Amino acid sequence: MKALKLAIIFLFLPLLVCADNQPWQIFKSTHFLIYYKNAKESQLNELAVRAEEYYNKITDDLGFNRFNFWTWDNRARIYLFDNQKEYVAETGDPNWSAGRAEVDRKLIQTFITARGFLDNVLPHEMAHIVFREMVGFNNPAIPLWLEEGVASYQEQKIYFAKADLANRMKQGNFISFDELNRMESAGLRAQDEVGLFYAESFSLVKYLIAEFGKDRFVLFCQNLRDRRDLTRALALTYSFKDLKDFESSWRKYIL
Ligand SMILES: [Zn+2]
Repeated sequence: MKALKLAIIFLFLPLLVCADNQPWQIFKSTHFLIYYKNAKESQLNELAVRAEEYYNKITDDLGFNRFNFWTWDNRARIYLFDNQKEYVAETGDPNWSAGRAEVDRKLIQTFITARGFLDNVLPHEMAHIVFREMVGFNNPAIPLWLEEGVASYQEQKIYFAKADLANRMKQGNFISFDELNRMESAGLRAQDEVGLFYAESFSLVKYLIAEFGKDRFVLFCQNLRDRRDLTRALALTYSFKDLKDFESSWRKYIL
């Protein structure tokens, strides 16, 4: 049903007409097309400015700034619904959702008063899209921790300080890398575990970028894209013998 609905929206996009017949209008910035109905100009400006800032920061942080991803016909689309009710009705998302993205369509949806969208959801979802454009949308070699680590790395909030992670590790209240590497989103249930999963994922990406630099990280992504194999990409880029070697270096960094 949801797929059908999306297909219909997609078909009618060229006409820029939505279900309630009020046309979407478009606000353009260098890398974004913002679709809106009744948003004020100040709200559109704020969204565009923040989105452009994040675009620059994400591509710079990850070293992707020599690849000009999102210009002209390739701009990302942001749909800014007037209110939560319309957003929920259209996306089917739960009431706590402040925004969402369809990574392969480079599409982000949110609503005007969404809490935490500008600070956390927007950079998180944008990072997902930029990262996937780099490593390939259908690349099976990307574990969830890497995907979410790259996205969380861009949020304004701090998941766990390094010292907290070190304490948890000493207490044995820690997800081993082996376990982390096998985790899929459907398996994330208990809330404490979800928090720890994101904290460790964030920490792994932070470790790679802080210790070895952005250029290496780009090379790592290119190796992931070309080899489609995590262990090989880690070995080729960082000379980790295997995943155990990678884990013990990361643990040393935390401690
Ligand atoms: Zn995510």
